[in-house]
Amino acid sequence: MQRFQQTLAAIVDLEGEGVFSGQRVRVVLEPAETDAGVVFVREDLPGAPRIALRPENVLGTEGATVLSDGRHSIYMVEHLLSALHGLGIDNVVIRVWGPEIPLFDGSAEIFVREILACGLKLQPAAKRFVEIIRSFEVRNGVGRILFRPAEGLTISVRIAFQHPLIGEQEISLRVNPISYQREIAFARTFGFKEDLLRRKEKGLLKGGSLANAIVLDEKGLLNGSLRVQDEFVRHKALDLLGDLFVTGWALKGEVRAELSGHKLHIEAVKNLLTAPEAVRFSDGLPAVALFFLTPPRARAINPRC
Ligand SMILES: [Zn+2]
Repeated sequence: MQRFQQTLAAIVDLEGEGVFSGQRVRVVLEPAETDAGVVFVREDLPGAPRIALRPENVLGTEGATVLSDGRHSIYMVEHLLSALHGLGIDNVVIRVWGPEIPLFDGSAEIFVREILACGLKLQPAAKRFVEIIRSFEVRNGVGRILFRPAEGLTISVRIAFQHPLIGEQEISLRVNPISYQREIAFARTFGFKEDLLRRKEKGLLKGGSLANAIVLDEKGLLNGSLRVQDEFVRHKALDLLGDLFVTGWALKGEVRAELSGHKLHIEAVKNLLTAPEAVRFSDGLPAVALFFLTPPRARAINPRC
């Protein structure tokens, strides 16, 4: 288990198309101080307003997770947050020149690849966790999320779609940076042609193409092939990990999500955080240990960093 806080060893600079706005959006990830948490900055707006990653600033909608302080917003933060949670990153400043995080190929692969290309840096402070200490359940219609105490973070996700390529799929995983990269990060988002066309007509999707997602019609796949047969449920797990990171603190416990989406994920985690009997906010180390332990020195693996 990771015991120290972690940030980036160098700046990561990315650019891609935003599917909602259709704009090219630049995103720069920068190392941040100990205890800084995750902070977004809208660099394209006057005064470059900062929006901290805090539960009250996160909204779950049907199609995406949105960060908003009530005046300024950033759409589609979930895949980037998933990569940060999965890789164990605690402190980072995310500068965004636009209203959303680009979707890239619909997975979290580009974030993982670019972050790891420059390496991570351990920091001399205990990692902070949201620890589940008592079972807690949230239901919404057919959807259900169950939180239970556990060592580390374990997730189980079940989806069911009446579609020949999907049907019922389930995945359970002990989450750590290695399993995240191998099992989750590559899984792309998916959508149904009818639904996407409807949203395009309404002007809700100004960008977006067959390169940004797995697109399905009622019979099968409209573009390319699946990376794995159960890519759909793996992407749900990717989304869940991003949505569970609304505090910017890693979650410790077991999370079982059934027939859920962003809306229920965010509602469930917000309810959990306000239930004092169910969670504890804790450090990974007793404070005194920090006087005796020094984090190993991080090295950049990529010469361009
Ligand atoms: Zn997603």
